[in-house]
This record gives sequence, C-alpha cells and structure tokens, in this order.
Amino acid sequence: MEESQARKFIFGPINSRRLGKSLGVDLVTAKTCSLDCIYCEAKATTNLTMSRREYVPVDKVTAELDAVLKNIPTPDYITFSGAGEPTLNSGIGRVIDHIKKYHSACPVCLLTNGLLLGDTTLQKELSQLDLIIPSLDASSEEEYSYINRPCPGETLEKLFSGLCSFRRNVPVKMALEIFVVPGINDSDESIERFYRLVKDIDPDLIHLNTLDRHGVIAELAPASRERLEKFAAVLGNIAPAEIFGPTKEPHVPHK
Ligand code: SF4
Repeated sequence: MEESQARKFIFGPINSRRLGKSLGVDLVTAKTCSLDCIYCEAKATTNLTMSRREYVPVDKVTAELDAVLKNIPTPDYITFSGAGEPTLNSGIGRVIDHIKKYHSACPVCLLTNGLLLGDTTLQKELSQLDLIIPSLDASSEEEYSYINRPCPGETLEKLFSGLCSFRRNVPVKMALEIFVVPGINDSDESIERFYRLVKDIDPDLIHLNTLDRHGVIAELAPASRERLEKFAAVLGNIAPAEIFGPTKEPHVPHK
C-alpha cells in the first residue's frame, strides 16, 4: 500500500516523553479491552473480553507498517498501544517477528494492561520485545474493581501472578506503570501494599502516572505532586521510579 492512503492501524510518530519518537501500532478495534478503566482516554470499553483473536488482520497491519516506515525517519520505538489491549490480538507475535525481520533497527515496545502476561503462549510471542510497560494500578482487590473494572472473574491476584510469571520467564526490560488516582490508591497504606507487590514483581523501572485528559469518569482529578513524590520515594528503593504524569502515554491513535 502507499503511505498516502488513509492509515488504519499505524499512528504517529508522536513525541513521547519516555519513548522519544514513537510510532504506534493499533491491533484491536475500538474499544476492545479486558478492562474498563475509569481513567481511560479511549472512552468506555464496548467489547469487554479476555478472548484472543485476530481483531484486525495482521497482514494488513504489517503492509501498512512497511509503507509508513518507507517514508519516515526510523522512529525511536515502534509501540503497540491503541484503542484497547494489544495482546488480545492473537497475531501480535507475527507482527513482532515481522518488525524484527524487516525493520531490525527499530526497538519494539508494548504498552499492556498485563492481564494475559501469565499465558505461556503469549510469553513466547512477546520474547523479542525490547521493552514492556505493563500496568499495576491497584494494591488491593477493592482498588482493582474500582479503578480497572476487569472482565468478570479477573482478579488482582491473577494479574500479579501473571506479572511475576512473565518476569521470571521472559528476559525483556520491564517498566511497571502505576496510575495514581487520588483518594482511591494513594493512601500511605496503599503505597505500603504497592511496595510489597512491586518488590516481588521486581521491574527494571517504575513509571508513575496520573490523569492528564478526561477519563471515562469526568470528575476524576490528577494526583498531587506530593503524593506522586511519596510513591517515587518509597518505590524508588526497589527500582528507579520516575514521575511521568500528568501526561498519560497515548494508548490510542487518539490516545
Ligand atoms: S486504559 Fe488501557 S487497559 Fe484501561 S480500559 Fe483503556 S485501553 Fe483498556
């Protein structure tokens, strides 16, 4: 395809504070996700699912990616992000293989809600990533239900166990993202619980984020600098912790 044709799956490159010039790849249709986060900038989830399938055709994604990359300078990252959860596309491994084969100068990053990371098939598919940024927004099941509103049957315990399993089995650099919601997950008790969870996951880096644009719930406010700094001071004892909020990494072409 020609780059001049309308793009469907590739967006940017955008200037990302943590990734530099980041070219986005969107692997699901809006809005397909296993969570319905209250802060999501991609609006409410309309297809709440844990089912993996080829939501958008991977051959078309790679063709569009080739056409875009032919016409722009090499980006700092190709990033799976978009209007929902990229790992729900059962063809994500084929896209990563394609990038590694034909665009090997480009590091590849995945932004993910992390729910499927305990799946050993997916772990193999993601083994060639250069960077993974999974989310952990809750330190208790109550916070998880309130902030992330997962598919029925999904729990924080399961997410935590999947993150630990991925970390043990897949040697990919991990930056764990925590989205801080004032009054919900930012008390001293929550920070203590986060400390215990993050210590066991043992990421390379910690990214602290908070609300930038309107989420699904309009009355949400960004966390205070004081609370974000408290998180950074405590979690910085585990791994370098950086505050990126209130600018949320775009999750969608929008986003
Ligand atoms: S923020 Fe990410 S994980 Fe949460 S609902 Fe939006 S797309 Fe899904």
